[in-house]
Amino acid sequence: MLKGSSQWNCVRGYCLARKLCLPDLQDNIMDHFIAWLGRSNLWMGKSLLVEAYNSSEPGSGLRKFVTRTIAYRFRENVGIASAADMHELFVRMPGLCQEYLEFLKSTNFIAMKDPGLADQCLYHQHGIDRKCYKVAED
Ligand SMILES: [Zn+2]
Repeated sequence: MLKGSSQWNCVRGYCLARKLCLPDLQDNIMDHFIAWLGRSNLWMGKSLLVEAYNSSEPGSGLRKFVTRTIAYRFRENVGIASAADMHELFVRMPGLCQEYLEFLKSTNFIAMKDPGLADQCLYHQHGIDRKCYKVAED
């Protein structure tokens, strides 16, 4: 399987799971996607970031991951290094600017870490009202 197509398939699979009202599958896909990115030592490319953001719903785990990935990469100068890069992303992803600023404020502008290393439930759809599919399996 090609690297790019693996990422693309995860994003498409995530969005399809949402349309089919399968939040546990969304969460499972997020976990595997983030683990796969980490194992492969890859970042989502700009075009995939844009597609993932624009095809996912506000507040979803995928959008959170995209927003945090962009914030982290901008801070660490990893492929998103300039204000022009950020401007391009804000233009291509309506809503990103607000989510980005809200995320920065939530970190007090200092405590930001690799989004792939965060608690995976952060990117899950289950919220506090429903058990994580990982717990439900036990
Ligand atoms: Zn969870």
